[in-house]
Amino acid sequence: DIDPLNLCAVTVVPLPGARILPLAPGIEDDLFEHDGQITKRDIRALTLSALAPRPRETLWDIGAGSGSVGIEWMLAGPSLRTIAIEPHGERAARILRNAGRFGVPDLRVVTGKAPEALAGLEPPHAIFVGGGGSEPGVMEAALAALRPGGRLVANAVTLEMEHTLMTLYARHGGALTRVAVSHAEPIGTMKGWRPAMPITQWRWTK
Ligand code: SAH
Repeated sequence: DIDPLNLCAVTVVPLPGARILPLAPGIEDDLFEHDGQITKRDIRALTLSALAPRPRETLWDIGAGSGSVGIEWMLAGPSLRTIAIEPHGERAARILRNAGRFGVPDLRVVTGKAPEALAGLEPPHAIFVGGGGSEPGVMEAALAALRPGGRLVANAVTLEMEHTLMTLYARHGGALTRVAVSHAEPIGTMKGWRPAMPITQWRWTK
């Protein structure tokens, strides 16, 4: 059974055409199976850097989508663990397929909605909120569950979530960062900057 992506986590002598997984985060979007709801690679690289994984830590990936953030967390070291929380059944199944394909099949997926689905999970050292953060009680539950010294990183693309993050920043401090990425794309025979939707990132250490 041949991996269609021909991904190799560890390779001494690469097979012809093999893609070797890089050691730094920011894996290309299209190496993940996704439905468009994926944290794009530039933003994902910044997000992993802010999450700052350390040995033996556990991440909660809330609104895990394709699982890309939780998978890259686990790829940062063999002792790292991820619990992905995702209510959409098809996406939850996709997360497990992606985890298997990237060689981290023990990534745990909880199919359910935050905050309810968070109850009883092992307290995390880091939390990423990529979805659901503007719903009532989600950020409160995340802040409360985070271990002392732990990092929380939340990305907003909607005004509603940005408002939630503004409020949290005013109340708890941390850092609020806005990132606007553009990629060069063809415009007729020439090229122009195609802007992606800007994201607002809040990061906070408990
Ligand atoms: N970071 C993901 C993309 C997230 S898209 C990736 O890189 O693939 C946002 C996700 O949040 C969607 O899959 C959506 O189903 C999920 N979501 C929405 N409300 C949620 C909630 N209350 N709890 C958990 N997940 C939620």
